[in-house]
Amino acid sequence: MPPLIGIAKMAAQGPLLEAKAQVEYFEIAARSILNRTKPNMPFEWTINPYRGCEFGCQYCFARYTHEFMGMEDGRTFESKIYSKAAAPEILRAELRTTKRDEHIAIGTATDPYQPAERRFGRTRAILEVFAEEKGRRLSITTKSDLVARDVDLLREVARRNVLSINLTVTTLNRRLARLMEPRAPRPDLRLGAVHTLAEAGLNVGVFPNPILPMITDSEEHLDALAGAARQAGAQYFGGGPLFLMSCARKIFFPFLEQHYPKLVQPYRRLYGHSGYLGPGYKAELRERVQRVRDRHGLASAPVEYRPELWEGEEQGTLFPLH
Ligand code: SF4
Repeated sequence: MPPLIGIAKMAAQGPLLEAKAQVEYFEIAARSILNRTKPNMPFEWTINPYRGCEFGCQYCFARYTHEFMGMEDGRTFESKIYSKAAAPEILRAELRTTKRDEHIAIGTATDPYQPAERRFGRTRAILEVFAEEKGRRLSITTKSDLVARDVDLLREVARRNVLSINLTVTTLNRRLARLMEPRAPRPDLRLGAVHTLAEAGLNVGVFPNPILPMITDSEEHLDALAGAARQAGAQYFGGGPLFLMSCARKIFFPFLEQHYPKLVQPYRRLYGHSGYLGPGYKAELRERVQRVRDRHGLASAPVEYRPELWEGEEQGTLFPLH
């Protein structure tokens, strides 16, 4: 076996912090917290306080991040969780090198409020740094109601920065959610978090992503989600189809074979040549999501970044919920 190098070597040397029945938590040294994205992404920087994600969604495309650490079996992504050990001073120093209006997205390759966060508080420590900042443009994406734990801190961050919080809710059907996202919080708990955050005056939206062809893409299904999101206080509702890269296929197709055998062939046709769906399906889905949004009075995205509007003001005052 070739010697381990880089991130794979660091992962192999990371001390074990704790072990549960199915999950082990390790610490991994991190020299950096902010990651620069490639051009044409909707954000310039990402922060992922953990590597791996215990929620274990069948469609998760982020499993490739464990492949970088020499773990090719897709399931280790959800059973070996690495908590990044990086001092807040590192983030403060890195922020000094960024422009204020650059968008920093928290939780793009793992859920920042997965169960590890209860134990290690890495996401909270990062938010504490942003609470000292001014004029930053931030977003958080999660499937977890644990985000509501930080409501006071999030309000503090949003006082002087533009903050949007995206709750992912793919279905209201608990059984389907359990199949697709085995260890993620129930949909009603996620919507409860939307309610808590919205009541606190925070800018919160719901994303039904990834929308799965022939499973969660009907107008009826999306309409029910959008209605529940609106009722909980969401301001915007996103919506994009499943992206099926190779690391996700290894898990997703066995899932289909077990639970939706009749969909295996249609999915092979849809995703035969690429991880992306064709433009025809995407255009039709876009229109469907827009109809649903219009019906429930939801925006397509968080409020735009307009610092001149809120200089010296509180975000909640400028963008009232109702
Ligand atoms: S919550 Fe997100 S990162 Fe975690 S397993 Fe699901 S899709 Fe992947």
